[in-house]
Amino acid sequence: MLLDLRTIYAVAATTALILGFMQIGAFATRRFGLWPLWWGLSSMLIGTGMLLIAFRGMIPDAASVALANTLTWAGYLLVLVSVRSFAGLRTPPALFVISVTATAVMLITWIDPADFTKRVVLVSFLLACCDVAVVREGVGLARRDGLRSAWILVGLFLPSSVLFLARAYLGWADQIGKEFFPPQTIPLQWASVFGAAMIIIRGNALMLLATERSHNQLVALARHDALTGAMNRSGLEQAVAGLLGRQRKPRPVAVLLVDIDHFKALNDTHGHAVGDEILRVFANVARAQLRGDDIVARQGGDEFAIVLPGVGLSEALRVAERLRQAFVTAVAERPGLERLPTLSIGVTEGDAASQTLDMLVKEADEALYRSKRSGRDKVLPRLDMVAV
Ligand code: GH3
Ligand code: MG
Repeated sequence: MLLDLRTIYAVAATTALILGFMQIGAFATRRFGLWPLWWGLSSMLIGTGMLLIAFRGMIPDAASVALANTLTWAGYLLVLVSVRSFAGLRTPPALFVISVTATAVMLITWIDPADFTKRVVLVSFLLACCDVAVVREGVGLARRDGLRSAWILVGLFLPSSVLFLARAYLGWADQIGKEFFPPQTIPLQWASVFGAAMIIIRGNALMLLATERSHNQLVALARHDALTGAMNRSGLEQAVAGLLGRQRKPRPVAVLLVDIDHFKALNDTHGHAVGDEILRVFANVARAQLRGDDIVARQGGDEFAIVLPGVGLSEALRVAERLRQAFVTAVAERPGLERLPTLSIGVTEGDAASQTLDMLVKEADEALYRSKRSGRDKVLPRLDMVAV
């Protein structure tokens, strides 16, 4: 089978140009921010560079060598700019302009065919650096933002960075011959087919990440209460199902049911907006007082459920008391309240392996009810645990 290198370059170039159009089209929908614009422009630059390379020897060297390599380099840099933009990082435009200009100057000075090796070393090394930088951002996106498809990005850019480094090294060691399109061997043909396919696949990597990120954002929206940022009831059920469902051995779990005292009166005296603010104060206090794997959820109105995995009753009572006092301190800092709102809290302890969330909430609710009946502003445990 004849796999002509120029044809492979021409097909890859055309595909990159079409992908570029599509990515700029995605940007034009205004749903994604700036990163598809940089990615689309990058594909167009890389596509144009490859097209010029495909015509090497048939068009002036200034176009097929200096210009082609500069465009390819600028395109690669824009991939990095795009990935950084996706990650919420801005790249200074001056850095981009300086890198491209400096490279262009070197390539123009080294346009002589005798300088082929120098050019290969320079361009391969720069492209490898760019790919390594993309890999670094990919690892950050996977670790920091929990985007699993970022590992696909890493998997696509890591091999090419190694290949470019190898090519730069071979150039340095004078092992790559003197011409860009040498007499074609079968391994070289297939390596080029593979390279072209990689360019096409890489063009879609960020779309995968964008899909995962918007899916995660939708799930988070569906599971959280917009006013307080705490989980909503459905979020609580999901989180607790993950926690209790996995538990095989007996393990304590504590549930606190918290209700703001005389909240209706606060709304009536100061207005709904102040009521909303107090709900947010409570959620912030709870987040500040609890550990990372504790769960805070708004049950509805002014009632919150808190789940403390691995915590027994006496510890849960201490946490509840700390929360009650921290809330009093926080609302005291807000000037203008006629009467400071307080908290009533019911506490229960259960076994994560054998009890359901409903059972535990019911027990905590009973304790909360007694707290309200006995004068509010206090923490009480479930009735049969009073002596603990
Ligand atoms: P108690 O001490 O017995 O808890 O009395 P309370 O006035 O707090 O009574 P209750 O807990 O039943 O009142 C809940 C009130 O919360 C009723 C409702 O008007 C108000 N509410 C519910 N959702 C919201 C909200 O999103 N924002 C505000 N500002 N108020 C809300
Ligand atoms: Mg209330």
